[in-house]
Amino acid sequence: MNRILIIEDEQAIAELEKDYLELSDFEVVIEADGSSGAARAIDEDFDLIIIDLMLPGMDGFEICSLIRETKNTPIIIVSAKKDDIDKIHGLGLGADDYMTKPFSPSELVARVKAHLSRYKRLTASGVPENDTIEIRGLKIDKTARRVYINDEEKIFTTKEFDLLAFLAQNPNHVYSKEELFKEIWELESVGDIATVTVHIKKIREKIEESSSKPQYIETIWGVGYRFKI
Ligand code: CA
Repeated sequence: MNRILIIEDEQAIAELEKDYLELSDFEVVIEADGSSGAARAIDEDFDLIIIDLMLPGMDGFEICSLIRETKNTPIIIVSAKKDDIDKIHGLGLGADDYMTKPFSPSELVARVKAHLSRYKRLTASGVPENDTIEIRGLKIDKTARRVYINDEEKIFTTKEFDLLAFLAQNPNHVYSKEELFKEIWELESVGDIATVTVHIKKIREKIEESSSKPQYIETIWGVGYRFKI
């Protein structure tokens, strides 16, 4: 549940905002004094903070800049005076939005929701990193299904890729040709275990400097292959 802090000295307004936000499933905390509101905004984690400008103890301008020293929490400033909006802009306080009293509570709720979803989008880890395996100059990007040797891309067929990725994901494990065939081809009932040998040869031509002295896929005579790490 999202937690919202309202710093507002007019109790009726604070309660009205709280009621509307609670109807939209927000958890709401009210502070009526500027200093205690600022302290709470800094000590606790809120998802969004609504700050009135004229407050006892510390005004909204000061609270806003104080919060911005350490936090990026979305801030909506509310003010009774339209002129204050220019001042907010002029001071560059880092408020995300402002509203002039009187405003409709449902408008406030709509803006709160908009800022929360925007903030969550911005702070989400963004594009997830590709799942890659990197060993001595060989890079296997399992997400994009691409293979690079010293940053140069090598073109792999689907099965060559599957076979290399499988071996690299299970390094130092010796697999027989039968096991590899079963793992990569079984469901397609095409080819036989000689297919494995052919594919290993092709993969080596792409990733090994010398196919006779492979650095990545090692032949274990009489047993099978293993990916060396
Ligand atoms: Ca006030």
